[in-house]
Amino acid sequence: MSSDLAPGIPPAVATFLPLLEQIDEGVQVFDEQGSLLYANERAAQNLGFATPKAFLKAHQGRFCGLQIVTFCSAAGVPLPPDDYPCVQALKGQRVAEQTLHFRDRQERDRCLAVRAVPLRDDHGMVRYGAVLSRDLTAAQAIAQKLAQKDCQLRHMADLIPSLVACLDAQEHHVYANAAYLKAFRTTAADLPGSFLQAVVGPVLYQQLQLPLKQALQGELADICLPINSLQTPLQYSRVSLIPQLEGAAVAGAYLIFSPISAHQHTNNLLQTETDFFRHSLEAASVGTWDWHLNHQELLWSSPQEQLFGLTPGSFDGQPETFFQLVHEADHDTLKAAIAAAMETRQQFVAEFRVRLPNQQIRWLSQRGQVLRNPDGRVMRMVGVTFDTTAQHTAQALLMQQMQRDRLIAKLSQEISRPEQVTKALPRVFEAVRQHLELDRLVLIDLREAAGELIAEAQTPAVESMSDWQMRHPWSVKAVYLEKFKLGHPVGIADVQQQSLSEAELSFLQFFDVQADLSIPLLEGEQLWGLLSAQSRQPRDWLSEEIRLLETVGRLVSTAIQRDRLHDYLTRANRKLKRFAYLDGLTQVPNRRRFEHFLHQEWRRLMREQAPLALIMVDIDHFKAYNDVYGHQAGDDCLRRVAGLLRSAIQRPADMVARYGGEEFAIVLPNTNVEGAETIAEKIQILIHRAQIPHKGSLVSKSVTLSMGLAVLYPHPLKVPDDLIGLADQALYQAKDNGRDRVVAAP
Ligand code: GH3
Ligand code: MG
Ligand code: MG
Repeated sequence: MSSDLAPGIPPAVATFLPLLEQIDEGVQVFDEQGSLLYANERAAQNLGFATPKAFLKAHQGRFCGLQIVTFCSAAGVPLPPDDYPCVQALKGQRVAEQTLHFRDRQERDRCLAVRAVPLRDDHGMVRYGAVLSRDLTAAQAIAQKLAQKDCQLRHMADLIPSLVACLDAQEHHVYANAAYLKAFRTTAADLPGSFLQAVVGPVLYQQLQLPLKQALQGELADICLPINSLQTPLQYSRVSLIPQLEGAAVAGAYLIFSPISAHQHTNNLLQTETDFFRHSLEAASVGTWDWHLNHQELLWSSPQEQLFGLTPGSFDGQPETFFQLVHEADHDTLKAAIAAAMETRQQFVAEFRVRLPNQQIRWLSQRGQVLRNPDGRVMRMVGVTFDTTAQHTAQALLMQQMQRDRLIAKLSQEISRPEQVTKALPRVFEAVRQHLELDRLVLIDLREAAGELIAEAQTPAVESMSDWQMRHPWSVKAVYLEKFKLGHPVGIADVQQQSLSEAELSFLQFFDVQADLSIPLLEGEQLWGLLSAQSRQPRDWLSEEIRLLETVGRLVSTAIQRDRLHDYLTRANRKLKRFAYLDGLTQVPNRRRFEHFLHQEWRRLMREQAPLALIMVDIDHFKAYNDVYGHQAGDDCLRRVAGLLRSAIQRPADMVARYGGEEFAIVLPNTNVEGAETIAEKIQILIHRAQIPHKGSLVSKSVTLSMGLAVLYPHPLKVPDDLIGLADQALYQAKDNGRDRVVAAP
């Protein structure tokens, strides 16, 4: 009972005072003069007073409490005094609840819901006015916030690319965001109240009908639609239909079209059809994995575990265990691939090796997709794993094949150079030895009984075989030779496994030969050599290695045969050349050679401006010689004269040639008349001294010679024939003068 009673409080009010003090609404009673007679505690508080007493005191002398507070409308317009609820009530008006704003004494904006009623006497005269007030300040603030939030939400909804709409239970639009309006070509003004079908069209409506019905029954529905019909670059839309609840009742549904890319669509398909994929992946022994990055857990399928050499169910889900299984050499590339996928948030691609429990190496290829949560954070990586060992093996083989092809090409080139193949062999053999990782590669010529080593390449660790008698067991044992003769290679993985004699084994031991692969080299049917590849360790010879060595053997053999043929031809050619330029009877240069040489010296001495001498020699009465001693003896005589003439000349540059019949020509470069005469005289002495009997001669008892001598300085206006002519004339002169003499041309 803290209220204070003003004098003249109506008895009816007085009766209810205890009740009025209790109620949660402010109560004020004014008399007909507008003086405040009564206010309960709540009324005082509503208007910003601590107690009713303070409130009443503030009212004293003020009509209806005007100017204690200034009421305004919601829009902030001050209320005219006549419109104040208590004034109205005293005028006999009943005032329905209205919201009034005012600023209280603590300068706070407040809000009241106010009603007023006139209280009349038995005659119907207004005697009092009662004002009831409720404080709305808190509620108002909430409403305002809500309005703001609504505004913000709508603004946000307009920013997102998804299409958002809110429908009522009768499928009428209540609200839609900007994207929705744009996609369906409608406006914010036209939309409210329009029927869903009218906006989205009959086709889409048809597809939405079932999930919408579900949503309006309070269930979430989710469908995926192609939305080519919409003006959007995206191919698919996921439509979520969410019931809009008011309490327990469904008031409508939210419709959200989320744009999703084709890729996400595929992902979704993957998720929805996981079973199908899992079965097909398992059948193809493709492992699947799912890496939850937030709690660092790896989920592996059974095939995935098997690919890593684990028994199904034994993987502990720890990423570290995964890394431990990966070959150390591939850790860095794997980590880089993971980092790249996280950073770009795209595909993860990696290829690495794992070492299986049986120590075998397996190549695995992993491909994965990075999954993000809506805020863009990478949450998971999911993917598949394949066994790519077969590809790698094939690739390695291909690489090896390519290297071998390249090696062969290089060898062919080396061997085909215009030099002796034996010069190229050390290089060639070293290249092959390194490629095949041999300890020694030798070429043995079997044409010599003991076998001669033609070429060798060896590691420094083993003894060289050169300078040793090649008693290579394979090259002497019939069992091997038979195979070689048929062109078959013999590969020996371990010489200890062969039935070899002590001596043979000790020979092989000395040269560190534990394994040997020998390729026969044939020339036609004839076995002429062996190409022998040797290893210090036992070694199983692979078919590719055998093929490679066979190719090398063929190349080398062909090249060596080519060289031998070349040598033979060179020698034959040289002989032929000699035949072509030598006189068959006397073995001195023939007339062709003489003419060629004379011309050559003519040109050379013209440049040197030096003299060129020529002596023409003719046997005297040779016809008679033949007649007396026979043609055979004539030939012998010609040979003797030729030899005699050859012995008379001194310089290597001089030449004796058979000019024809029993005539010889002597070419003496850089020789003047005196020099030539000296030679001629020397010849005369030699022929006299030779005393070759010649009964048929009219000038002597032995063979004599007549000589014509001429010397010229070669000159552009003259020709070599001029020199021959001069010498011929001089010879004629010598014959004419009685034979057995020398005449020099003037
Ligand atoms: P002359 O002193 O004038 O030179 O008298 P000649 O008999 O030597 O001269 P001629 O030219 O009359 O005879 C040359 C003879 O040389 C003719 C031929 O029987 C002989 N003769 C030429 N070539 C050969 C040959 O290759 N072998 C032999 N045995 N005789 C030859
Ligand atoms: Mg003659
Ligand atoms: Mg003669």
